[in-house]
Amino acid sequence: MVSRLFRSDKLRFLRSLRLRIMILICVMGIIPAIILESVILRSQENHAISQRTIAVKNQCSILCDQLVSLNYLEDPSNEVVNGELNILTNLYGGRIMVIDRDYRIIKDTFNLDRGKYILSARVVRCFDGEETDQLDSRNQYVDMTLAITDNTAENPEVLGVMVVSVSLTEIQISRDLMERRGIVALTIIIFVILLLSFVLSGILVKPFEKITDSIEGLTEGYLEEQISVTDYLETELITNAFNRLLKRIKVLDDSREEFVSNVSHELKTPLASIKVLADALNSQPDVPIEQYQEFMKDISSEIDRENQIITDLLSLVKMDRKALDLNIETVNINDLIGLIVKRLTPIAKLRNVELTFDSFRPVNAEIDQTKLALAFSNLVENAIKYNQPEGGWVRISLNADHKYFYVTVADSGIGIPEEAQDHIFERFYRVDKSHSREIGGTGLGLAITRNAIVMHRGAIKVHSKPGEGTTFSVRIPLVYIA
Ligand code: ADP
Repeated sequence: MVSRLFRSDKLRFLRSLRLRIMILICVMGIIPAIILESVILRSQENHAISQRTIAVKNQCSILCDQLVSLNYLEDPSNEVVNGELNILTNLYGGRIMVIDRDYRIIKDTFNLDRGKYILSARVVRCFDGEETDQLDSRNQYVDMTLAITDNTAENPEVLGVMVVSVSLTEIQISRDLMERRGIVALTIIIFVILLLSFVLSGILVKPFEKITDSIEGLTEGYLEEQISVTDYLETELITNAFNRLLKRIKVLDDSREEFVSNVSHELKTPLASIKVLADALNSQPDVPIEQYQEFMKDISSEIDRENQIITDLLSLVKMDRKALDLNIETVNINDLIGLIVKRLTPIAKLRNVELTFDSFRPVNAEIDQTKLALAFSNLVENAIKYNQPEGGWVRISLNADHKYFYVTVADSGIGIPEEAQDHIFERFYRVDKSHSREIGGTGLGLAITRNAIVMHRGAIKVHSKPGEGTTFSVRIPLVYIA
């Protein structure tokens, strides 16, 4: 268990921003340091080799002049010259050979090849005046050919060639020493960079940890609070977005609270009336039967009201559950509205309201029949309910284009004041509370209607003039958009 936890912790670290920053710092620090070290070593070595070559060349050139002036090529037994050649050889740990015009080695400081002939291309080229130096890096030597020229003659000619081999072992040793020092320095640098990357990455990701801490530190009443981490523009944007989210949650929370308190109030009102009526009956010993019947009728209608509120609430809650609950099928809208009209005609007649339905074309659409039937019923019921006491009318129309179908419910009723039009779709909102209650309204009908229409990706608009009438226009897509 512990090892699994540890493993998952390790995996989490592998996915962290901190690790990526650490890697970035290491890559940016260590790779240039390694490259720099090897470049410095290489250029140091090249510089040392070229310095050594120049120094040896200079000394040998002087010696070449001496060879000419002392006629060494004719008589190689000159002790002074031989001594100098030996000193030079010992000094640079090398070998010097002097070759005469016949390509014969007349002097070899190693005493190995004296008297032999040498016909190498470099020697031949040197007799033509082309001096060369060549680095033999495998054996750590520089080979040079120098022309022994009689510069005093009118036409200076090459009398002989000096072949010099200089050992670079010393340079190699000092290079190795420097390399070892370089490795030590590099190790220290890598260690410092690792440490730095660890510390810096920690500092850089700190603001993000601050965000997590702030969110986790939000208290019970967190919806009232705000978080702020302004270290980076990015953290500021994240915290701003989070604060906006908090605000939205708060609005939702407030509206939920308001809804619950409205529901409680609405449910309690009929109960309070029932209680008053029942208490009135109970407090009188001999209640006349007429009064008894009247009070019981009132109690019955309050119970109906309570029932209506609960039915509406249940419909609303069902609508609130997302579109997943929609039971979409292709429905003939003419038939659907026809049925609603048929069902509500008796009620309209009771109130002396003329109810008509005009359909401009047959319409079939993908809808949830039950939910939209309820929505349209609510609109028509309202149009009947809030109509004139005498001679009113309600006109329903249905039309469609290639994308939507349109339903309008117009009435000749009492109308809705301008300032109330924005609120009529809110739960429990009623323009005239007592009038609405009188005619059996709960204030939930239009909220249910709007929810059903929005679930179908449709829209509803109201147009009304107090005293003249109201028209609700509904637009719904013919094909359901998931
Ligand atoms: P209610 O159950 O009270 O009718 P609704 O949500 O259906 O609740 O309607 C909200 C309010 O809008 C109603 O109380 C009423 O004041 C107003 N209203 C709705 N439809 C009409 C209409 N056709 N004519 C006039 N007023 C209306």
